[in-house]
Amino acid sequence: MSSILSIDKISKFYGPIKALDNVSFEVPQGSVFGILGPNGSGKTTLLGIVMDILKASSGTFLWNGQPGSEVIRQRIGTLLETPNFYHYLSGEKNLAIAAEIKQRGKEDIARVLEIVNLTQRKHSKFSTYSLGMKQRLAIASALLGNPDILVFDEPTNGLDPAGIAEIRTLIKELSGQGKTIIMASHILDEVEKVCTHVAIIQKGHMKAVGSVREILDSRGGQQITVLEVGSDDLATLDNIARLMPGITAVQSIEGYL
Ligand code: ADP
Repeated sequence: MSSILSIDKISKFYGPIKALDNVSFEVPQGSVFGILGPNGSGKTTLLGIVMDILKASSGTFLWNGQPGSEVIRQRIGTLLETPNFYHYLSGEKNLAIAAEIKQRGKEDIARVLEIVNLTQRKHSKFSTYSLGMKQRLAIASALLGNPDILVFDEPTNGLDPAGIAEIRTLIKELSGQGKTIIMASHILDEVEKVCTHVAIIQKGHMKAVGSVREILDSRGGQQITVLEVGSDDLATLDNIARLMPGITAVQSIEGYL
C-alpha cells in the first residue's frame, strides 16, 4: 500500500518545551489513521506541522512524495478547530460563506450537504442545530472542493453520545467513498471503532504504529502508554485491560501523568 503522508524524524520545541521528539511514521493511502494519545501529547502540534500551519524544529514530511503546500491547498480538507459559523444564518448560507473564504466553488454546496445528511435542514438556522448537526456542518465545510484527504483534530470532542455516533458513522462513510482520513483522538474506543491504523503518541514520543488489529493483538506486556477513556465508554475499561495489557486505561488523565 502506498503512503499518502511520510513523516520523518519530526521534532518541535515551544521554547524549552519539547512537544514532539523525533516522530516518524507513514500514513497508508485509503486508511483511516488515528493519532491516539492523552491530552498534551503533541497530536495538535503534529497536525499543525503537516498542514503547514506550524514549522517543525527539525525533520521533514512529504505528502504523496512531494513537499506539502500545493497538495495541502488542493487535496486536503481540514477540521482542526470548530469553525466560526453564524448562529442566525442557515446551514446552507454558512457553507456559502465558508466556500467564499476558502475560495472553493459554491457549486458543490448541495453535494456536501447531502453527504453529511443535512439537506432536509439546510434552511434552518445554525442556532437550531444539535451538537452533532453543527459538527456535521463543519465536516461539510471541510468537504468543499471534494478533497481526497481529510485531517480532523478530535472530531467528536465536546459532543453528546448521539453526536458522537453521528460523526463516527459519517467518518466511516467518507472512508467508504475512498477518502484517506487522518484524525487525532484521545479516546481509545473511538480509534478502535473507526480507524484502520493507529499511531500512539505520549509526551511527544511515538510509542507504537501499525494497523489497529496489529496493535490490539500485540500482547508483549510492553508498557506503551496511558489512555483516557471517554465518559461514554467507561464500560470498556475492563475490555481494554484484557485486550491491551501494555496499556493502562484510566477514566480521566487528570492527575495521572
Ligand atoms: P495534544 O493535541 O495532544 O493535546 P498539543 O500538541 O496541543 O497536544 O501540545 C503538546 C505540548 O506542547 C503540550 O505540553 C502543550 O502544553 C505544548 N504546547 C502546545 N502549543 C503550545 C504553544 N503555542 N506554546 C507553548 N507550548 C505549547
